[in-house]
Amino acid sequence: MVDHTTVLIAGAGPAGLVLGNLLQAQGIRTLVVERSGREQVQTRARAGFLGPNSARILTEHGLASGMIHKGRTHGVCAFRFEDGEFELDYSRLGQGEVHTVYPQQDLVTDLLAEYLDRGGEIRFGATVTDVDAGTATLRYRDERGEGVATGRFLAGCDGSNGATRRAVPGRRLTQDHGVSWLALLAEAPQSMAAVTYAIHDDGFAGHMARSPEVTRYYLQVPSGDDPEAWTDERIWAALDTRMRTAEFGQLKQGPVVERRIVRLRSDVADPIQHDRLFLAGDAASLISPSAAKGANLAIMEAEVLATAIVSALLHDDERPLAAYSRTCLPRVWRAQEFSRWMIDLLHTRDDDFHRALRRARLHGLRDSRAHQNFFAEHYVGI
Ligand SMILES: Cc1cc2nc3c(=O)[nH]c(=O)nc-3n(C[C@H](O)[C@H](O)[C@H](O)COP(=O)(O)OP(=O)(O)OC[C@H]3O[C@@H](n4cnc5c(N)ncnc54)[C@H](O)[C@@H]3O)c2cc1C
Repeated sequence: MVDHTTVLIAGAGPAGLVLGNLLQAQGIRTLVVERSGREQVQTRARAGFLGPNSARILTEHGLASGMIHKGRTHGVCAFRFEDGEFELDYSRLGQGEVHTVYPQQDLVTDLLAEYLDRGGEIRFGATVTDVDAGTATLRYRDERGEGVATGRFLAGCDGSNGATRRAVPGRRLTQDHGVSWLALLAEAPQSMAAVTYAIHDDGFAGHMARSPEVTRYYLQVPSGDDPEAWTDERIWAALDTRMRTAEFGQLKQGPVVERRIVRLRSDVADPIQHDRLFLAGDAASLISPSAAKGANLAIMEAEVLATAIVSALLHDDERPLAAYSRTCLPRVWRAQEFSRWMIDLLHTRDDDFHRALRRARLHGLRDSRAHQNFFAEHYVGI
């Protein structure tokens, strides 16, 4: 059986679902082909910090009711290091903008419900196995066997290990940043009002609110560490040390309900389009989570791509589509550059020179308004 639609979308993450919603709103038919089941898509906890551009896109396109009702704005972050603690109220620095804290799985749940309401079609449990960019065709495998779908355009939103990016010839600029995190979700309320970055010779530790009941923590760990070797006791002990709780107050502890290793990697395709295939989100550019940019880039690219497809289909103008890579890649590289800056700021390497530079950078951030404005502008914006 061959499915025909106008725009085929591989992947139901933030990129694919924002794109699908924007196109359906313009009366353009879409079909999403998604490897996982609906339950899995709606419970995958990853991002939580949405920048103002993402909030604008979601609001302008009628996708923000959950974020508005359940999300919380956040405008302060704190740094702890050997010389004490300082806070940056970034809502009063740079462009004076804030994050909205809204868990990615809640956003995806909202986007999916709205997409179906707008008449969007989706195949769950269907893995894309082969992609033809010239004819905008993809083959997929699901429990019924092999399927084929075709469209006028094809959007590759199937993440960094998906099938679509292999169909785009060109350069791949990759970087392993040499750092791994143990990414944790604890069933515990947040311990500090602000996102807190702790810089310690044992390694980085991070604290980020997710919801009133759940807090995300990160611990820098050696590459290749087994997450199961990190018991709850070991995790809270490491957090206590690195967060310097003896000096700054205890953490509110609770059971650790998710622990996974995240290697901090970047992987940027250039270009991010080929023939009738256009990549968006992690499929186009994987970025380390050190500056919380991945979901924000995905939403930005989905809007740029939707606008370009609308221009091609409804106004017979393919120029925005032709310029898609040129429009997105400079923003991708600004995000990559800041993400790398954060990696250097936060992490401990076995190198005294790097430690001294890191301390100097923290002093700059603590004492210089120019450094603080640079940080604030890049931290919330792209
Ligand atoms: C621990 C962690 C914390 C993070 N925190 C933040 C944050 O605070 N802020 C932020 O902006 N970003 C953050 N990120 C990054 C963010 O989660 C990703 O950048 C975002 O999910 C990218 O969205 P996407 O739609 O491109 O891809 P994904 O969310 O990965 O969605 C891709 C979809 O494609 C499907 N798929 C994959 N392969 C196939 C296939 N062959 N066929 C069909 N479907 C397929 C997958 O099942 C998935 O549903 C974080 C990431 C991690 C790991």
